Amino acid sequence: MADLDFAGALVYAIPLRTRFRGITVREGVLIEGPAGWGEFCPFADYDDAESVPWLLAAVEQATRPPPAPVRSRIPVNCTVPAVGPVRAHELVAASGCTTAKVKVADHADSLADDVARVEAVRAALGPAGRVRVDANAAWDVATAVRSLRLLDGAAGGLEYAEQPCRTLDELAAVRRAVEVPIAADESIRRADDPLKVAVAGAADVAVIKGTPLGGVRRALRVAEAAGLPCVVSSALETSVGLAGQLALAAALPELPYACGLGTLSLFTGDLVDEDVSLRPVGGSLPVPAAPPAPDPAKAAEYRLTDAGREAWWRDRLARVRAAAAL
Ligand SMILES: [Mg+2]
Repeated sequence: MADLDFAGALVYAIPLRTRFRGITVREGVLIEGPAGWGEFCPFADYDDAESVPWLLAAVEQATRPPPAPVRSRIPVNCTVPAVGPVRAHELVAASGCTTAKVKVADHADSLADDVARVEAVRAALGPAGRVRVDANAAWDVATAVRSLRLLDGAAGGLEYAEQPCRTLDELAAVRRAVEVPIAADESIRRADDPLKVAVAGAADVAVIKGTPLGGVRRALRVAEAAGLPCVVSSALETSVGLAGQLALAAALPELPYACGLGTLSLFTGDLVDEDVSLRPVGGSLPVPAAPPAPDPAKAAEYRLTDAGREAWWRDRLARVRAAAAL
């Protein structure tokens, strides 16, 4: 990939407002190519092989224009981390969103906290809002069934529950036992071959993340193969990578649910100018025609300054390039 500026890659570190997915600082790399900038940001626990699709997504965005959009704005949900009910209510009320995704099962014996958080979110949204929960595969089947019945009651009806258990068989068993629709996320994203996952009997909704799935075009093929209504969700990218996720959401033939792309609200800052920063307004985001370029001042502000950590990212990028044969 001679036309990609790997040597000029920008390594960034942006603190998060709240601990999320076990991290307090989001790190990654921006790479420039002929079609604009791409973002390579696999989480630290992803090995080189599992990071290859993340690099392919960055390369696609930097080298190819997005597919033709069929919509120009994407409705988004707000995301409520494992916080107390007062904070949960504040987050939802401040978001302007009518759909909220609530993290649950954050720790053992979390159910009472989860119920209180979901009740607070429903109170903040009002009866017309939609509440979904995400357990990130933390429960066994019995715990999922018990928890989802309680949370469905606390929410006055859940929109769906994302990845209550780890395996597809477990999801199918939970789906048979509860009325709450089930969404598959990790089951698709971390599968050996996401194009071959038989989610149809195990889930009602497919969560599609373009960055870990290897880019917009590959994610569109995964969505088609899943044969279910899709929700596009971020992998905690800055506005640079989020632009690709919005392009994906804009290109899907149907989009019946709010997408998980309002995640910049979890960040204390962004790498692009405020005018083009992809923070939701009124519960939706515009689809940019092209990925926004990093603003030099912002890139300097959030440049990863720890030399050892920066070297780790550059070395990781080189290894994953080799693994991807790029
Ligand atoms: Mg999820």
